Amino acid sequence: MKPTLVLVGRPNVGKSTLFNRLTKTRDAIVADLPGLTRDRHYGHGKVGSKPYLVVDTGGFEPLAKDGIFHEMARQTEQAIAEADAVVFVVDGRVGITAQDKEIANKLRKLERPVLVAVNKAEGMKHTVVAADFYELGLGEPFPVSATHGDGVRDLVEMALADFPEPDEDDAKDETPRVAIVGRPNVGKSTLINALMGEERVIAFDMPGTTRDAIFVDFERNGRKYTLIDTAGLRRRGKVFEAVEKFSVVKTLQSIEDANVVVLVLDADQDISDQDAHIAGFVVESGRSLVVAVNKWDSLDAYRRERIKVDLEHKLKFLSFATFHYISALKGLGLEKLFTSVDRAYAAAMAKLPTPKLTRVLLDAVARQAPPRHGGIFRPKLRYAHQGGSNPPLIVIHGNALDSLPESYRRYLEHTFREVFKLQGTPLRVQFNTSH
Ligand code: GDP
Ligand code: GDP
Repeated sequence: MKPTLVLVGRPNVGKSTLFNRLTKTRDAIVADLPGLTRDRHYGHGKVGSKPYLVVDTGGFEPLAKDGIFHEMARQTEQAIAEADAVVFVVDGRVGITAQDKEIANKLRKLERPVLVAVNKAEGMKHTVVAADFYELGLGEPFPVSATHGDGVRDLVEMALADFPEPDEDDAKDETPRVAIVGRPNVGKSTLINALMGEERVIAFDMPGTTRDAIFVDFERNGRKYTLIDTAGLRRRGKVFEAVEKFSVVKTLQSIEDANVVVLVLDADQDISDQDAHIAGFVVESGRSLVVAVNKWDSLDAYRRERIKVDLEHKLKFLSFATFHYISALKGLGLEKLFTSVDRAYAAAMAKLPTPKLTRVLLDAVARQAPPRHGGIFRPKLRYAHQGGSNPPLIVIHGNALDSLPESYRRYLEHTFREVFKLQGTPLRVQFNTSH
């Protein structure tokens, strides 16, 4: 499980600058997906071989009693409660403020790692800066510079010191782990109950973690699945119901823990920014995806056409996924939904042997050669191998591959998808030029 790092602090101390620095390497991977909208408060980071999630909470006014600042404070407190580690950002040039002290008072009560990042410390004497902020009572402060990057790596390594390296054996477990996500009231609990209702269900808590994820094993048509429930569903008698309201952090965590994500949308409403952000996060995480457009039973023909246009328009970056029109309430469309879950799982885990990959590559080149670069020489594509799975990564080797146009890259990606039947999974293609 990926740990979640939450950035808190008053406005203007440099949280979003730090957030951008922590998530920068990951941004490059998904930058070129048309139509993808991103929520700049949630992102992926990596330090050494340890991946983590980062949440930027915006400004924190812990004493706000009402209005927008109160709502922000409420959301920040929820994020802090769900974090695995908290980074408290303060401004080294301004020194300790009354607001910093209020925030520190709250954070001191937490039973999880809290690190003080003294930002804007470039060119300042670190021992002096650290000594000033020691008074916050949260241990040894870390002088950093979000704009220059100084000290940031040490800070994150320390914040994540208690979390183990990721387990490479993960992929060997043959049971698909399925997360059902979506914004509030789209019908997630209804869908889960429809799936569970007639099935044998065993729920177990994951021991030894700060977040209490629940893994629910169930069978459908003789196949085993594990449902990941970090969304706060608990069994009440025979049915599952949400005991907490919607939580972004838990949604992100369950996406991370899954092999296949089922994104539930409400066909009765237009696609919202929140839908698009959750979808964007699935893409960014590299998980396979099946889209369940729910409440289809309650729509007339006009509305059905309208929502299809809306989906095409706002979620076109999900073209790799299969869309299903279902009714969780009436139990309609679930059979086909699970056929796609199986297919998406198989695609995510697909084994792509080097000889076959290379043959497919060379066939594609024979059918359509890459354009000459500047009209002079042609990029040369030599062979391909698989660099990873969940999501599949195809590495192509050759010469002058930097000059391959985007359209040609897409042509190759499309060809691999077709031949290897990689429906439902993001696919990454990397080009390695040898010199
Ligand atoms: P937030 O409101 O906490 O998200 O703060 P921002 O990230 O928006 O930063 C507030 C201001 O501080 C901006 O003008 C940044 O350019 C500046 N800033 C952020 N990090 C640093 C830093 O490491 N050094 C300096 N000198 N300025 C910084
Ligand atoms: P969650 O917040 O995503 O877990 O959503 P719920 O499962 O609690 O559902 C929210 C509301 O939508 C409830 O009133 C459900 O009865 C209703 N609902 C869920 N699925 C369907 C469906 O397929 N058709 C219709 N008409 N209503 C549904």
